[in-house]
Amino acid sequence: MNNHALIDKLNTAKALQKAEWVQLFSTFTENDRLYAAGIARNIADNIFGKNIFIRGIVEFSNYCKNDCYYCGIRCSNKNAVRYRLSKEEILACCEEGAVLGFMTFVLQSGEDKAYSVAELCDIVRAIKRRFPDHAVTLSVGELERADYEALYAAGADRYLLRHETANEAHYARLHPEKMTLKHRMQCLRDLKDIGFQTGCGMMIGSPYQTDACLAEDMLFMKSFAPHMVGVGPFLPHTDTPFKNEPQGSYEKTLFVLSLIRIMLPHTLLPATTALGTIHPFGREEGIKAGANVVMPNLSPVAVRKKYMLYDNKICTGDESAQCVNCLQSRLAKIGYTIVKTRGDYLAHEAR
Ligand code: SAH
Repeated sequence: MNNHALIDKLNTAKALQKAEWVQLFSTFTENDRLYAAGIARNIADNIFGKNIFIRGIVEFSNYCKNDCYYCGIRCSNKNAVRYRLSKEEILACCEEGAVLGFMTFVLQSGEDKAYSVAELCDIVRAIKRRFPDHAVTLSVGELERADYEALYAAGADRYLLRHETANEAHYARLHPEKMTLKHRMQCLRDLKDIGFQTGCGMMIGSPYQTDACLAEDMLFMKSFAPHMVGVGPFLPHTDTPFKNEPQGSYEKTLFVLSLIRIMLPHTLLPATTALGTIHPFGREEGIKAGANVVMPNLSPVAVRKKYMLYDNKICTGDESAQCVNCLQSRLAKIGYTIVKTRGDYLAHEAR
């Protein structure tokens, strides 16, 4: 089958065989990419209209016990200047976000054990008390099921935990031995089972990723049926073992975004900061390829440059309000509007 026919098949069957995925990833042309983007954007427009959801991301700590080879805040990076925000500082970021119209706060950090699960629960409860109509998304890494249950009970609505790769051997080349794909996948199953709107995802072009790996990512996502998918290009960070590895492909990232939208029509799919970093119009092109979420930064300007997962991350010098205004006008230029609603997955009502 030629690639257009494969993309049509994906659109009707919502699934492809592994070999078909490999064919798409290894042989797609610019014409194929634009063909998929057209279908994907049409699907998103039919479901969400010309509306884009926003999530305010609060990067509340860059301490991390893990040592992922790709990540700038890995524990071995002695050049990273570490910080953590207090509960009051986190609440102040949310307050600023609420004034700007954000209805979702994403709390992301390294795996920083200085915050106990009880403390995280206390922070979530405080946010939900002060902003009862807002959604809280957590992205704080791998925990045990009981911890996730406690965080859900405290009021957290959603959880982002990229699976990073669905291939065991590839996972082992991106992470030290004590991190396992098995545990990460268990976390994802637990999160979904508990009731979180759950997000997985992967980088495009991470070192040692093959088209077979990406095919396995697509097969995994088909069966897992996440509510959200985070996908961006791999970008090297100078203080990591992958500093000399090439960055991921911009076009391939856009192509993957479109294929995810076609396969999982209702998924909440951000045009990521990494996509905006690899290309000046990356986020706009991500929207045109089928994404329907943007995640501007709400972290205090004083710490932004310290949450450096990869080199040259954008928007690290701007105030939160500037980021929102900038995105608003960028999206308006391509015919999209930021909507100030929670933007839940369709089947999930506000709790
Ligand atoms: N500690 C949390 C948050 C991780 S940071 C967790 O484990 O989930 C969020 C995401 O940034 C990661 O899941 C990873 O996919 C992405 N990321 C990290 N380093 C990156 C890099 N060098 N280039 C692109 N994306 C990166």
